[in-house]
Amino acid sequence: MTDIIQLLPDHVANQIAAGEVVQRPASVVKELLENAIDAGADDIKLIIKDAGKTLVQVIDNGKGMSDTDARLSFERHATSKIKSAEDLFQLNTKGFRGEALASIAAIAHVELKTKRPIDELGTAIEIEGSTIKSQEVAVTPTGTSVGVKNLFFNIPARRNFLKSDTVELRHITDEFHRVALAHPNIAFAFYHNGSELFNLPKENYRQRVVHIFGNKTNEKLVPVEEETEVLKISGFVGKPEYSKKTRSEQFFFVNQRFIKSPYLNHAISAAFEGLLKDGYHPSYFLNLTVDPKTIDINIHPTKTEIKFDDEHTLYAILRSAVKHSLGQFNIAPVLDFEQHTGLDTPYSYKDKAGKAPTIEVDQSFNPFADDSSVSRGSSNSSKTSFRSAPTANWESLYVGLESKGNGKQGNGLDLNFEKDYKTETIFSDTSVETSKTTFQLQQRYIVSTLKSGMLIIDQNRAHQRVLYETFLKHITIKEATSQQLLFPLELSFTPNELQIILDLKEDLEHTGFVFSDVTKETLVVTGVPVGVSESEVSIILEQLISDVEQDVPDANFSAADLLAKSMAKTLAIKNGQSLKQTEQEHLVNSLFACKDPNLSPTNRPIFVTMSTEDIEKKFV
Ligand code: ADP
Ligand code: MG
Repeated sequence: MTDIIQLLPDHVANQIAAGEVVQRPASVVKELLENAIDAGADDIKLIIKDAGKTLVQVIDNGKGMSDTDARLSFERHATSKIKSAEDLFQLNTKGFRGEALASIAAIAHVELKTKRPIDELGTAIEIEGSTIKSQEVAVTPTGTSVGVKNLFFNIPARRNFLKSDTVELRHITDEFHRVALAHPNIAFAFYHNGSELFNLPKENYRQRVVHIFGNKTNEKLVPVEEETEVLKISGFVGKPEYSKKTRSEQFFFVNQRFIKSPYLNHAISAAFEGLLKDGYHPSYFLNLTVDPKTIDINIHPTKTEIKFDDEHTLYAILRSAVKHSLGQFNIAPVLDFEQHTGLDTPYSYKDKAGKAPTIEVDQSFNPFADDSSVSRGSSNSSKTSFRSAPTANWESLYVGLESKGNGKQGNGLDLNFEKDYKTETIFSDTSVETSKTTFQLQQRYIVSTLKSGMLIIDQNRAHQRVLYETFLKHITIKEATSQQLLFPLELSFTPNELQIILDLKEDLEHTGFVFSDVTKETLVVTGVPVGVSESEVSIILEQLISDVEQDVPDANFSAADLLAKSMAKTLAIKNGQSLKQTEQEHLVNSLFACKDPNLSPTNRPIFVTMSTEDIEKKFV
């Protein structure tokens, strides 16, 4: 028997490694930017063509490489950054694996030009799929330029797997933001297809944040500074009123490395407790500095998680630092709302006792008079009526019962009796009741009768379906009507968010939106779809941005579909909203006029049916 185990040839091993390090053009951007920073550059240019599918190039003014190093840099496990395993525990560089350039060169055409300050002439290397095509002496400025062309040229499956340019560019922009935010003392420029997207001079951290996220950001930043033995914190949190539906402005950097940490994120949320609306997230841009010995970053190169020795302490420090800042800037209320009303009650009772130690009697109260007398007395109407007279107690119960259950209560005996009792005069709409085909259950479901049994409809999902089909129709046949706003509405966004809206602008216009002016950071809305109120506009657009950011649609997604879904989600009747009889009926009728009344736009069931048979079985 011959042996069958063989060592993989280098170019194959590199390709396999590349699969892990390089997932998309944005991964190349990250690796090249980090190399430039590790080389001590203070001026870095990022040049992109076709969202990185054609070209990713990074030019730095760092320390450059000798011609031997230039060649070695493409070998696997070749690094100048660590020499022994111990170095791993005091890492001050971003890279250390010596894998990135080897991996990138295995799956792309790479052109490297580099020169050290002490050298007169530099080196140029061309390498394609791990094969060196040429190495020459070259006239080139001090520093390094790495150009990566035709990414995945030799792995068509990976190339086809790439998303649309819009999506890939968004990933690149995200990476760029992370690196640029972590290093305000380095100048960065970013060009895409010849146009300049960012030009950031060396600046302080506040200026850097504002430069990236727009001028409006300035007023919303609250500084956070804290220094303890184990942790130094500096940076900003956003004021609560500027919180966002998306998490796109949440940044932690640990020793100038972007990380994600749900645990530390929770510490921030805890500091903001009681200050945010449901579903909104605080913005933060926080730099944490810890002893490199207390963290473990020796994890996967593309991962952004990190392991801390003592997470609990960091959590506590972070939470209290943020809370302190919010308090200092008078943002946190002295008492939160619930506590306040709780405390209020005993005090008001004390006051009353002091002023008038008498029993209040509603002299005009007559239990046999009509409904209006019951609600007189005090603001606590139901309790008062309980105390006032037993008759009123009984009557108020009756009122509650009837209006909640719409006369369809199951306790037959009482109900029959009550029905006989003067219902006509107490309830003006009794006559309508008999013709009701629907009623609302727990302000959440609409129950409707069928010949063969009954239907229970989820009101929110039903309305989403109705709106979704309407919007989709408007977008495709381009015939929505729009209503003019009395005063134009000016909304501000970050450049990134604005880009998302611009990508969908045409479709948005087909739903009825009219935009009169778009600048770098603001959008002026002069018309909205019929039925949409002015106050809903910003909610719709924020939700849309959040949906686009989260869904990461692939190349063949339909923008129209996403838009219709998102708007339907924002505008649909919520659970907990009570609906008038006519509204209930209208919703049910509209639902069954839909093409697909069974499923919500996100493919969840809209209603369940219960046949008379099912019901009968329950009574056996
Ligand atoms: P790592 O960054 O993990 O060391 P890379 O494959 O990214 O591995 O780079 C290999 C080596 O090439 C680096 O250790 C560094 O010495 C050199 N190098 C890469 N990029 C640059 C650059 N822009 N300027 C100077 N040296 C560089
Ligand atoms: Mg590197």
